[in-house]
Amino acid sequence: MAKMTVRDLDVKGKKVIVRVDFNVPIKEGKIKDDNRIVQALPTINYLVEHGAKVILMSHLGKVDHKDPEKKAADMAKNNMAPVAARLAELVNTNVSFVDQTQGELLEVAVAKLKEGDIVLMQNTRYEKGESKNDAELAKYWASLADLFVTDAFGSVHRAHSSTVGVAEYLPSALGFLVEKEVEMLTAAVYNPKRPFVAILGGAKVSDKIAVIENLLKIADKVLIGGGMAYTFVKAQGKEIGKSLVEEDRIDLAKEFLAVAGNKLVLPVDHLVADAFAETANTMVVDDDHIPADYMGLDIGPKTIELFKNELQGAQTVIWNGPMGVFEMKPFATGTLEVCKAISELPGAMTVIGGGDSAAAAIQLGFKDKFSHISTGGGASLEFMEGKELPGIAIIQEK
Ligand code: ADP
Ligand code: MG
Repeated sequence: MAKMTVRDLDVKGKKVIVRVDFNVPIKEGKIKDDNRIVQALPTINYLVEHGAKVILMSHLGKVDHKDPEKKAADMAKNNMAPVAARLAELVNTNVSFVDQTQGELLEVAVAKLKEGDIVLMQNTRYEKGESKNDAELAKYWASLADLFVTDAFGSVHRAHSSTVGVAEYLPSALGFLVEKEVEMLTAAVYNPKRPFVAILGGAKVSDKIAVIENLLKIADKVLIGGGMAYTFVKAQGKEIGKSLVEEDRIDLAKEFLAVAGNKLVLPVDHLVADAFAETANTMVVDDDHIPADYMGLDIGPKTIELFKNELQGAQTVIWNGPMGVFEMKPFATGTLEVCKAISELPGAMTVIGGGDSAAAAIQLGFKDKFSHISTGGGASLEFMEGKELPGIAIIQEK
């Protein structure tokens, strides 16, 4: 696949509308983490330096359009104004904010743009039609600009007016962030150097069925930890006490076990606790000795060693889903050790997909120790499922 990228566009003097992912956590008007804004800077700065007139749009949180009271509260909470203020601090040019997603104020602000200036419009989800990929709305946004660039990797799995619709009406290209995501994820999922080991964890089997299915097809080994391992352990006929389980997925887990043979590797021991709490009583037990009143909240030390061994020599590793309840310190060891083992593999291509796994790796201090940590939780999951992402598919080929 060779999609157009921002480098292939002649942007000088052109109005370029860019879909960015500025969906940052905001509490009481303050941005808690500006990483998503920072990640969009290479594309924004490139456009500014090359004399484009830059129009930025993004969603921020959710807006309930069914209930008028909720709608008003959501709009107040998810106002893009603080993002504009932070962006202005991060770039070397004029940033104006327009508290509109359609209308005269926006049109005037766009008309006034000089080369290298930026205008950021209000939250795209203030528009009811956005999430429905409303064509009129997409046409309107397209009418503001000459070119469209998508740099919102976290949103390309959604076919909305701002991610897909607008690209139907303008010449389009990938921004640098999306380009890098596509390059790294494609290399891992579609063109892996072998051995290729996938490590899957997290809470639920049901969230990851398609990922497990696809990775069982393409990886050499699939290691499973985290909460979802217990549905598999139970499928093997073992007791799992009060561990997380999805009863309605046990048959599916049995099917996976049957087709995968020794490709699928499950934990052999567990750190179990008598409560879902940091202060719980804990112990390590083998996988066939989980007491009835305990729950597995992390993989055990033997499993850590087993997973480390399976990782030896791997040339490609995809990791999705924490190995335990890493948010609580007593149950973070498995995730930490797996993270460490992956990051120390010599010469391997190592990719993290999934919101919580990426957060875990960053929180545990591994931000720069992987080949790639995806910025899109849902989008990277769908990529690993082997699905086409509509916001990328719509972009012109070179
Ligand atoms: P990702 O966002 O990386 O795809 P998930 O959303 O699937 O990951 O899962 C992350 C969550 O899984 C974390 O909040 C973590 O606490 C939880 N989790 C991991 N192991 C367990 C477990 N053994 N029991 C309960 N929850 C778990
Ligand atoms: Mg998650």
